[in-house]
Amino acid sequence: MSAPPVLTFDSIPTEEGLSLDLVLDPAWAGTVFAGTDFEAAGPGEAALRLDVDGRDVTLSGNFALPATAECVACLERFPLRLAGEFTLVLEPAEKARGRQAAKGPGSEVELTRDELDTDVYSDGKIDLAHWLREQILLEAPVHPRHEGECPRPLVAPDAKASGGHLSDRLVEASKVDPRLAPLLSFVTKNPKKE
Ligand SMILES: [Zn+2]
Repeated sequence: MSAPPVLTFDSIPTEEGLSLDLVLDPAWAGTVFAGTDFEAAGPGEAALRLDVDGRDVTLSGNFALPATAECVACLERFPLRLAGEFTLVLEPAEKARGRQAAKGPGSEVELTRDELDTDVYSDGKIDLAHWLREQILLEAPVHPRHEGECPRPLVAPDAKASGGHLSDRLVEASKVDPRLAPLLSFVTKNPKKE
């Protein structure tokens, strides 16, 4: 398995910046999806750009990754493509700590919008796998489902129309599972006793 590389700050040319095209290893993508219902379905790709401003690094780019997920509507696995574009401003952890210290411990000073959007890198190292993982998971839908109609819906449209009465549905179900027959007689006979 090859994960996206860790770059050192010093390896980024100060003037020209750095462009990188990466193939996203499906085995690595599998580790990104660990603990989720998503599975990698082949290699993905990412086109990244790193630009330096002082000690800050702007990491921008886009990615696309084929995956599969279980549709929340019909419970079938289906293929989907996770893709996105992003721009992150990474500043060295020392600088962020310095600014925090300047405000004093427990300071209630509100963070500016810029500060909220700023991420940090530590020890002069930019771990591309870390930032790509974060961006991929941001693009993963919380409730994945087929676009448009599901190919094999759990509830057929005509079943909805005839399913208005509980007893009708039990008659159908009892043909499938004889254990439901006693329940059917309860539903159909009970009203007459009142
Ligand atoms: Zn579906």
